[in-house]
Amino acid sequence: MEFRLSCIRCGSPLEDVGNPVRCPGCGGIALIEYDYEKLSSVITKDGLARAPPGMWKYSPLLPLTERDAVVSLGEGGTFLQKAERLGEEIGIRGLYLKNETVNPTGSFLDRGVSVEVTRAKNMGYRGVRCASRGNLGASAAAYSAKAGLGCTIYTTLGIELGKLYQAIICGAEISPVKTYDEAIRMLERPDGLEYVISVTSPYLLEGVKTTGYEVCEQLGWEPPEFFIVPVGEGGHLSMIWKALRELDRIGIIDGVHSRMMGVQAKGCSPIVDAFRKNLDKPIKSKDLGMTFHDIAVRQPMLGELCLKALRESRGYALAVHEKRILEATRLLAKYEGIFAEPAAASTVAALKVALEDGIVERSDRVVCVITGSGLKDPASVKSLVGRSGVDTPIAFVLTSSLDSRLGRTKRLILKILQRHPSHGYLLWKTLTKELGLTITLPSMYQHLQELMAAGMVTVIDERGPSERKKKVYALTKKGESALASDLVG
Ligand SMILES: [Zn+2]
Repeated sequence: MEFRLSCIRCGSPLEDVGNPVRCPGCGGIALIEYDYEKLSSVITKDGLARAPPGMWKYSPLLPLTERDAVVSLGEGGTFLQKAERLGEEIGIRGLYLKNETVNPTGSFLDRGVSVEVTRAKNMGYRGVRCASRGNLGASAAAYSAKAGLGCTIYTTLGIELGKLYQAIICGAEISPVKTYDEAIRMLERPDGLEYVISVTSPYLLEGVKTTGYEVCEQLGWEPPEFFIVPVGEGGHLSMIWKALRELDRIGIIDGVHSRMMGVQAKGCSPIVDAFRKNLDKPIKSKDLGMTFHDIAVRQPMLGELCLKALRESRGYALAVHEKRILEATRLLAKYEGIFAEPAAASTVAALKVALEDGIVERSDRVVCVITGSGLKDPASVKSLVGRSGVDTPIAFVLTSSLDSRLGRTKRLILKILQRHPSHGYLLWKTLTKELGLTITLPSMYQHLQELMAAGMVTVIDERGPSERKKKVYALTKKGESALASDLVG
């Protein structure tokens, strides 16, 4: 189906200006429009009901050319879960969870990345590159692996390890930079060989909007009173709103009555702050004292678009305390069996607040979009399971695991040996002089013996004259992985 791009800032129509897409006049972001009149005779409810599940059933509303071969891992078509138990717990009957954690790489972004990598492949690019603090990079790595393309990810310290490993195992090249702003700047120097996947790309955004179509279809084309969506850059919420309006324009739904609710965390809430002050642009957040990366974006690139969607839908924006977000993560798992990352569970936390404040009626139908899986960052919910008490089975498992059995001294010994093998006395000197540990030499040898018994340290050499041989200790593979798992814990 034909489509056209136009700048959201100045409204100019844009030619398909290649990659990345920006308005050459004002530098604004572009959005894609279709011939909705034509589509209204092409797309029917019956036709959609007969089509196989997955986001590509909406392909007339996606920006592909006829010759494009889709790069797919089975994205979209995710379950809309009626949350009876969680609903009863928090006091609302019509609660639904759009479970995006079951996408191929565990995040809703797979919808957008599938469209982007499809384009990259069909346009003949050699690889893709993106800036990411987690989910986007993991997804880009997986789809480029499937497509046989290279993948470069610019990332910063603090990326969740599960997401990093996910990208590395898929063959991505990781390029660490100091700040996220710097990562974004790296993308502004395209080399023409690698396709830039950007959160502001109209093609990526078209992919993520399919969440909106699916929810409506799953509810029998009767959209809910509220969509609650986590807001980082602001793209997903904006695009679900676009999806609703498109369904109305092609006559599949009758008017757009849903209200959009955006959620951020207290401590980094540039869009919520702007919404409260009735501003068009996000207020750059100063403090980044919170850890849920996907909703901790200080200067959201799609903030204006998101604020527009909130206003147009007579919606609402809420900043929720981190503690409440963690508590919601627990409730979501306990009552509905979904292990989400805290950024994703923030929608449930926001719903609780909105019910208490009377923003959402208890008779409303509400869809909370659960955007990403908790499996990639189990440590984020450690505080919820770590206080279970010593007698519980979980405390037993936790304290028996390698990483928590390792005390500080043993961990330091492993770290020193990771740098280079060492004989005992040198090791002791490093511990005491360099690191200031008060430990006797025999006590250190005791630790070494225990580490050897656990298979984490081994003797690789004995040096010196025969009467005074010094053993040289080194880290084993098991020791390496104990240190690595300690990073996760
Ligand atoms: Zn423009």
